[in-house]
Amino acid sequence: MIVEQVWTGNAYRNFNYLVACAETGEALAIDPLDYNKCLEVAKDRGWEITQILNTHEHGDHTGGNKGIVNATGAKIIAHKDAGARIPGIDRGVSAGDIITVGKTVELECLDTPGHTMCHICVLSHTEQPALFSGDTLFNAGAGNCHNGGHPAELYDTFSRQLQVLDDSTLIYPGHDYLVNNLEFTLDREPDNAKAAAMLADYRDQDPENALVTTLADEREINTFFRLHSTSVVQRIVERFPEVGDSPDEKTVFLKLRELRNSW
Ligand SMILES: [Zn+2]
Ligand SMILES: [Zn+2]
Repeated sequence: MIVEQVWTGNAYRNFNYLVACAETGEALAIDPLDYNKCLEVAKDRGWEITQILNTHEHGDHTGGNKGIVNATGAKIIAHKDAGARIPGIDRGVSAGDIITVGKTVELECLDTPGHTMCHICVLSHTEQPALFSGDTLFNAGAGNCHNGGHPAELYDTFSRQLQVLDDSTLIYPGHDYLVNNLEFTLDREPDNAKAAAMLADYRDQDPENALVTTLADEREINTFFRLHSTSVVQRIVERFPEVGDSPDEKTVFLKLRELRNSW
């Protein structure tokens, strides 16, 4: 499996992806907003884009579908319930479904509601797994729930599906929000030395060549995985006395999501 992260350079800071089979050169475009750039990268590498996956229905993830389809005839894959929101879906997928790319790549679909209720993440069946996490999980952060999502569902997705993934899993999110998210982590957990070091190292990173974190990194630097941290909990209790002295993890997650909305 070859992964190409395509930086769009737009105001929303979207990442697009091409996932290719090394044997056949067939490629899957994930959330190809900047379709011209995706087509150029594919051409440079000698790849043929045969499928598109939209992780969810937002326009910054589906806006390049038409351009790719017109140029390549690629088939569009999305959540089975996204049909009314994404024009021209050829294949609706559910949890456990496999997307095959060429002869060598298998991506397993995870049904991950929260950011929206039709959100798919895909996990590669490779020795070192890779998760294409759309707007569910960002480097050092979590997706918002303003446009068709629900924070309680996002918590369930984190606790039941993301939390349990292997530490070595590479994280490929839909946007580059690393710096802002690390700043939020440090606002919530000022003593998080790993987040402080990562912020110092990557504050001025070139998104054309962005840091790729693992789930092990995320467990250390992503507040939404640190619901047990004494500093995180203590600061939630101080800010929201109504949660009591020892709020459960779900309450902490929901309060963090609420704080991040206006942070
Ligand atoms: Zn979105
Ligand atoms: Zn997005």
